[in-house]
Amino acid sequence: MPHRLSAVWRAKLQGISLLLLAALLALPATAQMGGFGRKGMGGERPAGMQDNSSVSSDGVERLEHEITATGLSVAFPTEFECAPIASPFASPDRFDGSTRRGDRNSGLHGGMDLSLKEGTPLLAISSGEVIARGEGGRLEGIYLWLRHAPADTGLPFWVFIKYQHLAALPVPNVGDRVQVGQVIGLSGNTGTTGGAFGAAGYPHLHLSAFYGPRSEYIKKGMFNSMVQGQGAALDDPLILYLQGVSDLKQVRNVSNEHRQISIAVVGEDGAVYPTGSKSVWPVRCKRK
Ligand SMILES: [Zn+2]
Repeated sequence: MPHRLSAVWRAKLQGISLLLLAALLALPATAQMGGFGRKGMGGERPAGMQDNSSVSSDGVERLEHEITATGLSVAFPTEFECAPIASPFASPDRFDGSTRRGDRNSGLHGGMDLSLKEGTPLLAISSGEVIARGEGGRLEGIYLWLRHAPADTGLPFWVFIKYQHLAALPVPNVGDRVQVGQVIGLSGNTGTTGGAFGAAGYPHLHLSAFYGPRSEYIKKGMFNSMVQGQGAALDDPLILYLQGVSDLKQVRNVSNEHRQISIAVVGEDGAVYPTGSKSVWPVRCKRK
């Protein structure tokens, strides 16, 4: 009798395993992969998820939507001297006035550049979380991504910031929380000279910013170096320093006298000026 029972159970268990295997094979590829799915792998995105960009074989992001200048500019505290913007967002020119290549963002700059000596400490422009770091494609070099919650910046958006061309892999790890003004890495030349920039590469920080309604994101691209926040759009990094903006469309309607933004800074002593500011310039400033 016990022998007969166990034989029945063996048969039942075999049946269950076969059913499980069949169910697993029938699952679509995306369900097995998890996440939102990936480009080129048959993945589907949930409703409301924007995907305006694609990544080419050299790992460079190409946007299919237009980017436009905001007309925002910066004013540093009068007693401080800071590294200026060498090439602003949506500019057709590089730091030296030469014209950008036309095959990326219609030849317009997808971020802002600061020309820096290699080894300049880079600062977290707001408190936030490290969500990605690594070495990207030929034009990216070593990069770091931070995600800022509305409570970090005082803005009604989630902000995803990418720092590029770092000298070495930055110290904070994915998942670490950083405080406004904290050193997060050193500037460098990676992904500029010798890459597709050729001899025209030079040491600088390229900063790009994406603004969106949600905290969720996926990583994509050849090097997993491209963070796509759900519903997030690439725009001027200077928007992060604006206060009282409730909508990205509003940014381009800001009156001329409000287009110059007072920027909070970190001095060489590491102190934030004015104290308590939620966002600061990405490098320390010298007291005059
Ligand atoms: Zn740049």
